[in-house]
Amino acid sequence: MSHNVAMDSRTAYVVLALMTLANSGALGLILRDLPESLRPSVRSWQAGTLIIAAGYGLHAFPSLPLAVMVTLSNGAILLGLTICWRGVQQFDGLPQKAWHFLPAAAGTLAIFWSSAFQPDTLVRILAVSLASFMILAGCVAILADRSREDGSRSRQLLMALFLAIMVLNGFRCVYFAWAGIPSDFSIADNGSMANIISPLVAAMLPVIGTTAFTLMCSERLRRQWEHAASTDHLTGLANRRTLTEAGRHRFEMSRIRGERVAIALIDVDAFKSINDRYGHEAGDLALQHVAASLQAETGPSDLLARTGGEEFVAVLTQTEPEQAQLAAERLRLAVQRHPFSLRGLRLPLTVSVGIAVSQEGDADFDSLLRRADQAMYTAKSAGRNRVELAA
Ligand code: GH3
Ligand code: MG
Ligand code: MG
Repeated sequence: MSHNVAMDSRTAYVVLALMTLANSGALGLILRDLPESLRPSVRSWQAGTLIIAAGYGLHAFPSLPLAVMVTLSNGAILLGLTICWRGVQQFDGLPQKAWHFLPAAAGTLAIFWSSAFQPDTLVRILAVSLASFMILAGCVAILADRSREDGSRSRQLLMALFLAIMVLNGFRCVYFAWAGIPSDFSIADNGSMANIISPLVAAMLPVIGTTAFTLMCSERLRRQWEHAASTDHLTGLANRRTLTEAGRHRFEMSRIRGERVAIALIDVDAFKSINDRYGHEAGDLALQHVAASLQAETGPSDLLARTGGEEFVAVLTQTEPEQAQLAAERLRLAVQRHPFSLRGLRLPLTVSVGIAVSQEGDADFDSLLRRADQAMYTAKSAGRNRVELAA
């Protein structure tokens, strides 16, 4: 055993356990800042890393019998990894499966067998590696899933980390299989290349992984807030803020390109009577119904927003007045053709639409909105359920 290395790998594991403990404590402190939806997943990650830390911490007791030490330590690491995997599942709202504990259970049994009954270090290392390989692959499969992948850097970082641990684990196995394992092998042997790398690999998940996981949570929060700030809570459509931003941008761009912008301002007719007769909740359902009818009629590149109580605005792709008028007519018909039904009652709804197409005199997007609003009022006074083009 050489003594010229500053820290032997046994000490490294104990330091690692303490670092993980500190990291996990920090995670616990931010837990109450997180919304209820993220807490189960963070709690699992925290529990997983704590169990891993306990596994590393066992190295502080070198007097433990080898079989006990090796089984408990590696078993804790596999169990901890499984619980971190569970955390990743919960983060994505996936159901938990009991069989996910199988790799950890089988791995731990194999370790116990190959340390207590038929001592074989290589089998032991292969068992730990294979089991952790399966667990890590489970994490990667979730994080890489295209249907849920959101392009966030922290998610990619966490996935890359899991992959890196898998690769390094693989290298370690190959190294041991190729170099053979000395009969007096010990994790405290600083002469072994693998023993210098192993603690570094071991540090990746509970230290860097926890950071990546925390960032992933805060990125999720940021996106949730961004979504909440830009959409209308009742209908899921864009809200006035989003419309104003997008509309102003489109107005400026069209001015540069010498194009036009066309908008349709849509107001539900006699909506107050729905509220008065059937209650505010029925009114809300009616608004959701109208929003869905309008959305089904607008193209993917049209922007549809709910800008007020029972008022919607569509930024149309058709910018020639006649085309815009036809598009608005389709929106009006879409609402008329889909009566709202409430507790078996058919409640026909109609809308009045004002269209404005940008012209020389329009100073900005807001003046376009004002003209559409005037046209909408003209439609109202002309009898409702109709489309009017602003002068
Ligand atoms: P008009 O044909 O002239 O547009 O008549 P109207 O009844 O639709 O117009 P008015 O502006 O008089 O009434 C709009 C009503 O919309 C009043 C308000 O209570 C209701 N309202 C606004 N926002 C909401 C909402 O979020 N939910 C519900 N249920 N009602 C709302
Ligand atoms: Mg109205
Ligand atoms: Mg109104």
